[in-house]
Amino acid sequence: MPAVDVPSSGPPGNEQQQGENTASRDPNNPNNQFRPLDRSNTFWARQTNAANWSLGRLTKEDAETMFALEEARNWGKMLKNCEKRRESLMKYSPTIRFMRDKIGQMGGNISLKSFPCNYCVDMKSGGFNPEYGVELCANKLVSENHQEETMAHEMVHVYDHLRFQVDWNDLRHAACSEIRASALSGECRFIQQFWKNGQWKVNKGYQDCVRRRAELSMASRPAVKDDVHAAQVVNEVWDSCLTDTRPFDEVYR
Ligand SMILES: [Zn+2]
Repeated sequence: MPAVDVPSSGPPGNEQQQGENTASRDPNNPNNQFRPLDRSNTFWARQTNAANWSLGRLTKEDAETMFALEEARNWGKMLKNCEKRRESLMKYSPTIRFMRDKIGQMGGNISLKSFPCNYCVDMKSGGFNPEYGVELCANKLVSENHQEETMAHEMVHVYDHLRFQVDWNDLRHAACSEIRASALSGECRFIQQFWKNGQWKVNKGYQDCVRRRAELSMASRPAVKDDVHAAQVVNEVWDSCLTDTRPFDEVYR
């Protein structure tokens, strides 16, 4: 997913313009080009601030404040959306309920609290850490489908952790779980084929998608040197991990 793009300073050229016009901040100066920042959280105030900013009429400090206020304002909405979707997915998504039951059978307990909706700074929509559990990146999740795939992805990691005694420091173990998480979460479902004539069939586009996503996840690990290294580790375990569809066999057979 692309990162949420929040510009942090004014439009191009604004920087210099503001630097040159520090004197004009004086309210008694008839050439004063700056406008005060309206901090009231009304539609009109936000429109006016945005217009003033784009015309270079906000000081650098006010522009920064405006963006901080905007992010804070949207953050509340993002957080609420994440929590609302999380609750509905836990109740109604067949995939999430199935994974929750499978994890439960192995002694794991998945509840709403297992999926904290957090603010994430890096490019990811969710995360799994064997010590701290899973998290959802409320500021990176764009839809209910996206959140469902992300929750399912992290749940595959939880399942693997409980079921296979994964050594997360072993890159081959980690790569295997990333392949399975990408393959089983539905992230690549728009090009995948499930069971056909009693056989598990996958098409080329689906495999490319799973491979690319697993490589991306691996490349973000500190122990992985670069993209080439990530691709190499994924390739080493590819065949056995792509065809290991547990616990999903029974669903799609
Ligand atoms: Zn993952």
